[in-house]
Formats: sequence, structure tokens, C-alpha cells
Amino acid sequence: MFIAANWKMNLDKFSISEFCKNLHNYKFSPKVEACIFPSMPYMDYLNNLIKNLPISVGGQNCHYKPDGPFTGEVSPKFLVDNGCEYVIIGHSERRINGNESNNEIKLRAQLAVNSKLKVILCVGENATDREKGHALKFIEKQLLECLPNDFKSLIVAYEPVWSIGTGRIPNAFDINEMHMHIKKIVLNKSNKKIKVLYGGSVNVENINSILKITNVDGVLVGGASLKVKDFLAIYSAAVKHLNSSL
Ligand code: PEP
Repeated sequence: MFIAANWKMNLDKFSISEFCKNLHNYKFSPKVEACIFPSMPYMDYLNNLIKNLPISVGGQNCHYKPDGPFTGEVSPKFLVDNGCEYVIIGHSERRINGNESNNEIKLRAQLAVNSKLKVILCVGENATDREKGHALKFIEKQLLECLPNDFKSLIVAYEPVWSIGTGRIPNAFDINEMHMHIKKIVLNKSNKKIKVLYGGSVNVENINSILKITNVDGVLVGGASLKVKDFLAIYSAAVKHLNSSL
């Protein structure tokens, strides 16, 4: 079970230190893995604050070239250098605001894999594709165009664009169907079994029902991961869920 906290462009040094103060008395479980994705300049700062805790730090993106004239971009090797274990690739906010194409995302994912980062590859349909009944087809094409050619392991995050930050989530049937579909596509293409996270408006109220869905292997949380109380409540729900399904 995996809990990914995507802080996006939120939380400054002071807020990060306040957040981390509340983590030190919490009993983390070896069964639930957690990774926080802070804003780039605070990676090292966060890593130092949580170095004795079983939480890793990840990058919200990385470039498809290891170095060169790419102002504002970050190399995967710099993420590794800063103690990152994971990187998110293809988040819909980067696809939309940064015009990242499927091909570019595939290149970013491949270089991240080659640089020994664990990739969380995001896919998600928009509201029109969901309403028209095209969601499965859309995701199949998007995923096949973004999958790196060569990888040992990979995590896919299913994040319907219409669900991110809106408070609306797909029903349990649709989430399970999509996660099964994603696992099958990757297995057929690469012979690899992967984990699929659900992302989009996950919060303290809906976490229990999301975790009950068979093919959900964890969650990618944006807004609700900014408050330490909610982050820990979501983490605790995952621990409880695992203990109750033993
Ligand atoms: C996200 O942006 O990855 C995300 C899941 O955001 P939120 O939880 O705020 O919908």
C-alpha cells in the first residue's frame, strides 16, 4: 500500500517544519509506504527533517535530458543527488500548463527509470471522455504512448482530470474497472505486474471507501496532504485497511 503526497506549489520552509514536527510522535507501519513530493527548492530541507522517519521524498517532475540548456527544468540525476527515490511524471497539471505531450512524458519516464528513480506515471481522462463512455479507450492510448520502453518496475496513478481538486470522484465500479484495465495493458505490453494508485479529491471522508476497491494499491493525494492531520488520518486509514483485510 502506497500513500503519495503531492504538495504541488504549496508549503514554504516554515510550513514544512511545522508539518514535520507532528510526524515525529507518530508510529509508522512497515506495511504502508509514504512519499512526499515537495516543491523543488525544499527537497533537501524536507529530507533532513524526516531522515529518521520511514517516509521518502520525491520529485514532482524531471526532464528527458540529463543536463543542458533547459532553463527551469530539473534533471533526474539531480533528484537522485538530493535523496529522491520517486518521481511523478505526466501529472495532468504539467500536461495542461506545460503542454507536455505523451511522447515527451515517455522520454521523461524513460530517463527517470534509467537514472534509478521509481516512476509514478500519471494518466487520466477529461470529463467529456468519461461522459461519452470513452474513458477506457482514452486511457489505453495515453498509457501506451507514455509507457517507457524499458523498466523493471513502475507505478501508474489513475487521476481523472475532472476529479483533481474538484471534490468529485468516480464511483467504485469505474475506479476498479479502470485500474484493472491499466494493469492488463501494462502486463500485455511489458509482461510486468504494476501497482495502480487512485488520485483525485482523496480526503479523510472518502479514503476508507476508496481503499476498499479491489484494484486500488494506494492513493496519490494533493490538497488533503497539505495538512499533517489529514495526511496522517489518510495514512492511518491505509494501515487499518491492511490490518482488517489480513
Ligand atoms: C493531484 O493533483 O495529484 C491530486 C490528486 O490533487 P487533489 O487530491 O487535490 O485532487
